[in-house]
Parts: sequence; structure tokens; C-alpha cells
Amino acid sequence: MNHAFQKRISESSRRRNPAGMSAAAQNPSGTACDFAALTKRFSPDSVSSSMNVLVLGSGGREHALVWKLRESQLTERVICAPGNAGIAQAAECVPVDLKSPAAMLELAERLDAELTVVGPEAPLVAGVVDEFERGGRKIIGPGKAAASLEGSKMFAKEFMQRHNIPTARFVVADSHESALKALSDFGLPVVIKADGLAAGKGVVVARTREEAEKTLDDFMNRNVLGGAAERLVIEECLVGEEVSFIVLAGTQGFVPLVPTQDHKAVFDNDQGPNTGGMGAYSEDTILSDAQRDEILRRIVQPTLDGMAKEGAPFRGFLYCGLMLTSEGIKVLEYNVRLGDPETQPIMMRLRSDLVDLLAASLEGKLGVVGARWSPNPSVCVVLASEDYPGKYETGKAITGLEAAEARGGVKVFHAGTALRERDVVTAGGRVLGVTAVAEDLGSAVEKAYTAVSKIHFDGMHYRSDIAAKGVRRLKAAADVRNSDRRTENPAPSR
Ligand code: ATP
Repeated sequence: MNHAFQKRISESSRRRNPAGMSAAAQNPSGTACDFAALTKRFSPDSVSSSMNVLVLGSGGREHALVWKLRESQLTERVICAPGNAGIAQAAECVPVDLKSPAAMLELAERLDAELTVVGPEAPLVAGVVDEFERGGRKIIGPGKAAASLEGSKMFAKEFMQRHNIPTARFVVADSHESALKALSDFGLPVVIKADGLAAGKGVVVARTREEAEKTLDDFMNRNVLGGAAERLVIEECLVGEEVSFIVLAGTQGFVPLVPTQDHKAVFDNDQGPNTGGMGAYSEDTILSDAQRDEILRRIVQPTLDGMAKEGAPFRGFLYCGLMLTSEGIKVLEYNVRLGDPETQPIMMRLRSDLVDLLAASLEGKLGVVGARWSPNPSVCVVLASEDYPGKYETGKAITGLEAAEARGGVKVFHAGTALRERDVVTAGGRVLGVTAVAEDLGSAVEKAYTAVSKIHFDGMHYRSDIAAKGVRRLKAAADVRNSDRRTENPAPSR
């Protein structure tokens, strides 16, 4: 690292931490972040050491990104557009139209943002990255063509077929009649997916023929999803455990993030309708080394190679929604951005400076930099409005936010909140993501739910079994180890 850059880092560090508080003390993850490690870090060429960073979006994922970016020694100002009440406590929030690439570029220019990070999929599918590239501004995410991996389920499925990437058997239907016919190609349950973006409402796992036919009628005749369901993907229902595996892809190479498991159904034991995600956790043994290798070799690398070969190289966060089936690991879906709520537990475990990592991805240096992680597991419990994912009321006063964060290793990320005079009130279906990190998964769960118990708003509901699958898996593994040990060293007979 050159001398001048190191000096800028120390200046920046002093500016952001005038009281000389250690980075570990500032960081609820409790992860050590000493200066020696900082000075060994990658020295980005593409960004200055005191830059303005813009985050686009307004949910829990964006709050977690803002929180992590604020920790960076390289940021001067972090701005979020449009943000929410919680983000506003950590960063400036400004309005923007997330459907207009031109408006987002104009905002980045006005703010002199050297780096922009895109949270949700809509701006990516609308072409915000192409617009920024034309305007010469740095941005993290795929261009419009590569964003088709999420923007069109038909494109994603046919792409996987072309590149031999394991996924569920499927048929594309572009009329009600052909969709009805396609149903007979599959047993029950059958999965029906709208081709376009439908804010998490475009996938139905139909358990009966009646439910399947009703879904086809809703999607294709009654147009309940608007233009998103002009075409459908109908596919076989896979059975197994779901895992979210995200990589940051750069101009050269990629780095995997730690694995997570989401909880889509609204009620405990995966009952009830699907939501945007009621919680997530991250823990290393979600995947064995062999499973991780299989994902990298059979899914991630062929996806990145395939997109490059097709003239739409993928940059940014590639999210692979996976099913661990008895026939191997298969792709359920691609997202072209970080997951929500997966980002919240992931950011709690990230030890690297996020700006370093993002800059390295732009400079083709991810292979040099890599990502450093806390070994400690993390858990995020989502608190939702009454009746979510159905119709819900907003404007309920939220109490207990400070008490929830009083304990080290706990962070409450805001998803759907707003300020009403001086009160924080609910403003969305998913309201808060209470996130905790601890030495083992059981303790992280306990910490997260203790923090949840301090928070209140009328109608608040949440799942009480976030990470329970992980706790059971770890216990089963420990039982096997103990029983092996007993077999190897039987108790002496008297
Ligand atoms: P998101 O809101 O995360 O973008 P989405 O609307 O894009 O979701 P998918 O993630 O493709 O939809 O599917 C939603 C959920 O439906 C999955 O997490 C999984 O639980 C279930 N699912 C999708 N495809 C299948 C399949 N082939 N077999 C079994 N379950 C499936």
C-alpha cells in the first residue's frame, strides 16, 4: 500500500472515530477490525478514500448496506434514496424515482456519488447500470441484459437449459389453453410462475388441480399480476431444503458470500402463504464443503461463463436460490441483487471493508482481495404488520427500539418504517429485521428473540422458529459425533 493512501485511511479513520473508539467496539457484530489488518488491505485505484456512496432502495437490505458502508474507512457521506426512518438515523435520505434510470443518474451526479449500490431488482431490470455506464459513473450491479436472469423466468430457465445448469423440469406457456395443457405434463404439486417481476407474488406451488387451474385463471384471464403473467413457466415441484447462495461477481472473478437460509412462509413450520421473507440466518454448516464445491462448479461458474458467452457478462450480486434435492443441488431461481432479509445476517458477519470489496469487484481484483468473515452465526427475525402478506394497515407507533439494541451484537434494521413527528411508525408489511450475532447459532437465536421481546407495535407478528432448522441440524451432527466417540471409546466395564 502506498504511503499517501495509508495516510488518507488514517485521516479518514480519525474523522469518523474522533473518540478513538475501537472499530470492534463500534461494530455490533463484535468482530475485531484492527488497524494492522486495515493497512494490509487492498488499496483501490478506482475510488478515493473519502467518497460519497449512494444506496438505492428503502428496505431492510438497504439499511444493512448503509450500516456496513458507514463503518467503512473510505466513505465520507452515505446517502440513501429513498430510504426509510431507520436509515435516516444513519444516513441522509433523499427521494428518487426507482423506475427512472435517468433520474437515478441525475441524483448520483448531483450528490457527486463516486459509487452507487443498487438494492432492489426493479432499477436493474429498468437498465440503471447501463445508464450509469453511459454517464461514466461507478455502480454495482448487472446491466439490463444480464438482469434478465431475474426479469424473465423464461429467460432464466432456457438459459439454464442451454448451459446444462441443474434446475426443475419446465414448460413455457403463452396462452391459457397451452398452460392448461402443460399442467398434465406434471404431477402434483405443480409450480406455476409468472414470467415477469411480480414482487414475490408471482409463484404459486399448487397442491391440487383446482388450485392450479384457479392460478392459471387468475394469472392469465383475470390479469391479477398485470403484464407480469403474459407468459408462464410451469415446472415440477422440487423437494428438499432451500439455501440462498450469493456471490459478488466482478469484472474478473467472483467471491462467494456466506450461505443463508430464508423463511418464506408466513407462519412457523413453513405454513401459510409465501411472503418476501420472514427471517434468515447465516451459519457455515448450512452447506458442507462438498455441497459448496458442487454449487461453485455446477451452478455459479457455468452461470457466469454462460452469461459472458452470450454477450451479457454478469457483474454485481448474483443470488442463486437453491434446493438441496436427493438428486443433487438445483436452481429454483436467480436474483440479480442481494436478498432481503438475507443481507441483514450476511452484513453482520462481514469483516472486510465493504467499499474495498465493491471497489475490487470493479477493478477485477476480487481474487487478490477476497472477503473476510466472522465465524459467528447470525440470525434475523422479521417483524411484520398484522395481516401481512395480505392487506395491512400502517401508521402504528413502534416502541422499544433502543431497548432492543441495548445488548452488544444486536442491530434492528428498518424495512417498512416512517417518521410521524418524533415517532417511528409502521409503513410497510415487513417492518423491522431484528438481527443478532453470537458465538453459536443457539445463542444468536436467543439474543435475537430477546431483542424482539422489547419491541411492540399493534398487530405485530413474527415467526418463532427462525433458524430452528439450523439448530436441529447442528444438534443432530453433535449427536452423531458423540455416538461415534462412544463407539470408539466405550466406557470401561466394571
Ligand atoms: P422472490 O420474491 O424471492 O423474488 P420469486 O417471486 O422470484 O421470489 P421464486 O423465488 O422463484 O419466486 O419462488 C418462490 C418460492 O417458491 C421459492 O423460494 C420456493 O419456496 C418455491 N419454489 C419455486 N420454485 C419451486 C420448485 N420448482 N419446487 C418447489 N418449490 C419451488
